[in-house]
Amino acid sequence: MNKETLKKNLREIPDFPIPGILFYDVTTLFKNAECLQEMIDSLYELYKDKGITKVVGIESRGFILGGALAARLGAGFIMARKPGKLPAEVLEETYAKEYGTDTIQIHKDAINENDVVLLHDDLLATGGTMAATLRLVNKAGAKKAYVNFVIELEKLNGRKAFPADVDITTFLKL
Ligand code: 5GP
Repeated sequence: MNKETLKKNLREIPDFPIPGILFYDVTTLFKNAECLQEMIDSLYELYKDKGITKVVGIESRGFILGGALAARLGAGFIMARKPGKLPAEVLEETYAKEYGTDTIQIHKDAINENDVVLLHDDLLATGGTMAATLRLVNKAGAKKAYVNFVIELEKLNGRKAFPADVDITTFLKL
């Protein structure tokens, strides 16, 4: 992955969604055709030999590259969503946020014990969202799970939210 291409195309929005937060806007990474292609190619190179059978994308920015990568790998694509969005029976995990809690769900029949899963999201902050999604995937019985983010906010130490043996890759560390 050409980190300069990523850095150049990432837009920073001060005070979004609330004052004091610097938000990294990935819509500009998806908008640029060269950048989009490069991210998909890099993900494919990283995971093409891992035997991935399902890619799990986290709502909603994890759906973009997750879906593209699943198609490229010949794997299935699973949506991890906020409560009330998935129509069939779900498995769910609740996790602590700075203020209060949040819940993430997948369909109960989305993953089985033969699946090698890649979980993908756009950005690793505290790690709470992805760690809860990983617990869900393990609860569903996945054989093995890998984790990827495009961006990692290193100061927030998000990797600490995961067991030490989890294989996590990120492309751009900020
Ligand atoms: P965490 O659970 O790691 O604290 O938060 C990560 C989740 O919040 C991800 O789903 C990610 O999309 C979203 N998020 C938090 N901060 C940012 C940001 O600055 N930019 C983007 N694009 N997403 C963010």
